[in-house]
Amino acid sequence: MTNMERQRRHLYDTRVCQVCKGGEESILHVLRDCPAMSGIWTRVVPPQRQREFFNASLLSWLFENLGHDADMGGYLWSTFFAMAAWWGWKWRC
Ligand SMILES: [Zn+2]
Repeated sequence: MTNMERQRRHLYDTRVCQVCKGGEESILHVLRDCPAMSGIWTRVVPPQRQREFFNASLLSWLFENLGHDADMGGYLWSTFFAMAAWWGWKWRC
């Protein structure tokens, strides 16, 4: 559960991300926009795709990347994306 959801349920007094203290902890913040993850994405997402990548809504972002079957030198982008997002989520727990 993110801090945004905890606060919405009156379980926690802040929506701020406790990792970076720099943004509201939404699902998209945790998986994409928190500096802990955005630094990784910036290194692996091709520059010409970064604007779209970092501006998509949550559902669009998940749909586009999980359906993107570009070959990344022996594995699919969708596989790498899912593993990186999962790792990013688990790392915080
Ligand atoms: Zn953060």
